[in-house]
Amino acid sequence: MSDLCRQIEGHMRTLKLKGMIPVYRDLLERATTGNLQYEEYLALLLEEEVKRKRESSIKTKISKSRLPYLKTLEEFDFSYQPGLKEKEVIRLNSLEFIEQKGNVIFLGPPGVGKTHLSVGLAMKACSARYRVLFMTAQQLIEDLLLSKKDGSLVAKLMAYSRLHLLILDELGYMPITREQANLLFQLISMRYEKGSIILTSNYNFDEWGKVFEDNVVAAAIIDRLVHHASIFYITGSSYRLKNKLKKAK
Ligand code: ADP
Ligand code: MG
Repeated sequence: MSDLCRQIEGHMRTLKLKGMIPVYRDLLERATTGNLQYEEYLALLLEEEVKRKRESSIKTKISKSRLPYLKTLEEFDFSYQPGLKEKEVIRLNSLEFIEQKGNVIFLGPPGVGKTHLSVGLAMKACSARYRVLFMTAQQLIEDLLLSKKDGSLVAKLMAYSRLHLLILDELGYMPITREQANLLFQLISMRYEKGSIILTSNYNFDEWGKVFEDNVVAAAIIDRLVHHASIFYITGSSYRLKNKLKKAK
């Protein structure tokens, strides 16, 4: 490596131009053999850097969003859930619902793909560099309870309201007391028309009475959630049983 190249590479490291380092010498070779103009060389070099920075910012977003696994909508087999309106789900991929601060609700029994679809949309939102956070409804409730105890509830609610997309998975997995429901209601009110929520539950709305100790709060929560929401009732069978059922046959 020439002294000049060593110097160039040193500068690139100092400036953290990690996208340029692996490619600049190849490009330099192409340029010197006469295939690249100065402008073309510089443009290609910068393009690599921008590409790497974008990729790394998406990776950071995805890791910060705490998704339970990484799966895309493209990996979802809609033929397995013929009752689910594929076009309407795919339309969500444009992320217009996030722009409009709308919600998405997936309801249905275990294994039908509620979490997968939520994760797929969350990954898309991360790629568009929205602030995304995935948690179970139970984790959220526990977090809010703790904040209430130590007096940081308002700050916590503010922090949640800064997210573009909050995914609350598995609402109703555990019964929800009056105090817990009130906290959930505060969060949902705070995000109402300000930020999107994707919510999944094993229970249809008419069964939420079984989940919530207080029906009045449950109704108020549903009211705000569904006002600007796309709601999907997934009624098919569990994908987890797919191969098992095949084998049994
Ligand atoms: P739940 O509705 O209980 O949240 P999940 O979304 O976690 O179910 O789905 C369970 C598993 O089955 C996941 O690994 C998910 O990727 C997979 N899965 C569910 N439905 C489909 C589908 N239609 N196509 C592809 N994979 C699916
Ligand atoms: Mg799930």
